[in-house]
Amino acid sequence: MTTTRKRILVVEDNEDNRRILVFRLRRIGDFEIVEATNGAEALASIEAHRPDLVFMDLKMPVMDGWETTRRIRARETGSRIPIVAITAQAMADDERQAIENGCDDYLAKPVVDASLVRAKVERFLGPT
Ligand SMILES: [Mg+2]
Repeated sequence: MTTTRKRILVVEDNEDNRRILVFRLRRIGDFEIVEATNGAEALASIEAHRPDLVFMDLKMPVMDGWETTRRIRARETGSRIPIVAITAQAMADDERQAIENGCDDYLAKPVVDASLVRAKVERFLGPT
């Protein structure tokens, strides 16, 4: 059986937030989900797994989402990986800055609205 499962990388240092998002994603579709807890792990994971979509927390230890996104964009030669920033609620400036700094979209946490997660996924991966 050949697999056409889309691969999603979730980068988030907070375990509860990471689990909530992964839970939502598993309910949306049959994705292969890879997890990372900081930017350094994320960069390694992108090399190893070539995800189709990345959800990127901005505030993380070791390497934050801003620096990680910059490095991903600097590395890219051809295809551009869609990155959805995970922003803290009420941080409207983060949302604007995320787009200005190379992210394609943003998702405010805590991620309680499953339909919003689905909309973000479908924007970049097509109908689920
Ligand atoms: Mg964080």
